[in-house]
Amino acid sequence: TPNPRIPAPAALYGPERVNSAGLDLADPLTLAAIEAGRAPFAAPHRWDAGTGREVANPAVPGDVVGTVAETAPEAVAEAITRAAAAAPGWAATPVAQRGAVLQAVADAFEANMPELLALLAREAGKTLADGIAEIREAVDFLRYYANGAAAAEAGTRPRGVIACISPWNFPLAIFTGQIAAALATGNTVVAKPAEQTPLIAFRAVALMRGAGLPEDVLTLVQGAAGVGAALTSDPRLGGVCFTGSTEVARIIDRQLAKTAPEALFIAETGGLNAMIVDSTALPEQAVRDIVASAFQSAGQRCSALRVLYVQREVLPAITGMLKGAMDALSLGDPWALATDVGPVIDAEARQGIDAWVARMEAEGRLIHALPVPAQGCFTRPALVRVEGIGTLEREIFGPVLHIAPFAADRMDAVVAEVNASGYGLTMGLHTRIDGRVQDVVDAAHVGNLYVNRNQIGAVVGVQPFGGEGLSGTGPKAGGPNYLDAFRISTRATAAE
Ligand code: GLU
Repeated sequence: TPNPRIPAPAALYGPERVNSAGLDLADPLTLAAIEAGRAPFAAPHRWDAGTGREVANPAVPGDVVGTVAETAPEAVAEAITRAAAAAPGWAATPVAQRGAVLQAVADAFEANMPELLALLAREAGKTLADGIAEIREAVDFLRYYANGAAAAEAGTRPRGVIACISPWNFPLAIFTGQIAAALATGNTVVAKPAEQTPLIAFRAVALMRGAGLPEDVLTLVQGAAGVGAALTSDPRLGGVCFTGSTEVARIIDRQLAKTAPEALFIAETGGLNAMIVDSTALPEQAVRDIVASAFQSAGQRCSALRVLYVQREVLPAITGMLKGAMDALSLGDPWALATDVGPVIDAEARQGIDAWVARMEAEGRLIHALPVPAQGCFTRPALVRVEGIGTLEREIFGPVLHIAPFAADRMDAVVAEVNASGYGLTMGLHTRIDGRVQDVVDAAHVGNLYVNRNQIGAVVGVQPFGGEGLSGTGPKAGGPNYLDAFRISTRATAAE
């Protein structure tokens, strides 16, 4: 029986956009309902998406979450054939009807929250708080794009078949967001989730079909780079929507230039994100927001804080408070309610982060690190001293915070130094000087700049999310211009 304290989702949404309400975890009844709901999905429950590769729980060695049948690269063309055949019918389906299907999918996600939370914890290592936020974001994407699609219709047509290639760090939200945008605007989709998180994608697609999405309008292909390459090299593609590394985005971009030069390409990639804290910032607030930005989701967000610039005068105080706040973090199995920081996604990720922290330690830069469980893909949340962003050779996709001092008169130089990295995704700023906020807003080359708060968790419809430079192509996801990209103008262009 549904908990009366969990609001009935459908009633909260209408033509007026409202974000998914989420859950109040401070309410013991809500918490008990969530726990009871997800209990049946604890180990040894298995989600088998065909026979094939076993999918491991990153936190618990030996816990097999399920199995996945990988798609043979040769079978990808067949998926595109089906999607292309379904395209005219879906394009001709009234936008309101397409939207109604997506709203029904959103309802299904909210109704199946406990199972999705269980999958997010066991397959992707997500804490309960992160899991809830992720489901909310997926629901928001579905409703926002469903509601927004009509505005993109006039004088345009869909692009056809869109390949949606999504990452493991938001295996439900980004997976769903890409698909929802493409479908709302009348395109059909072949979706390839990350190889680390095939089961969440499989369950999400099952819920989509159950909510009324016609079979060939969305096809799931599963696998690694070979499947992705087969997908992005097909000349019939109308577009590719990709979230992942800058390196892979470059490969896809070059491929499309050769085989489908007219295709849409949206890439949302990595970042080397900075936060600047000056001496007028409120230290308690800054430290709370630093910890969330750097360590929530074990630092596995492209928006996460990597380099913290602190004005020299307050560096000792901020560093001391940060160490204390880090010590208060609870690390471990994300299934446990108390856990703040779970594992990283797999052994390869752990080794890469561990190697970086070991190197920083060998160079005498390690200020503080937390102990981690011996078993599972855990890596030490660490605080590392650097001179500036230049010390980082690449994005370290984990719970490692680099901290650099700056002199009071060097604020402009700090922003210039961050801009020079070439990345431009998020930036944080903590200051009480109004004029300084405007100066940084004007100078910083980033997609999302957050002032006196954390720099993660962009909210659909409120904070359109996306970067510039090496961080992405735009348009921003969850913003008013995103859907336009998925349609082509049919208006006659002026004669030459
Ligand atoms: N949209 C997420 C956020 O604002 C990040 C997405 C990503 O990591 O790819 O934190």
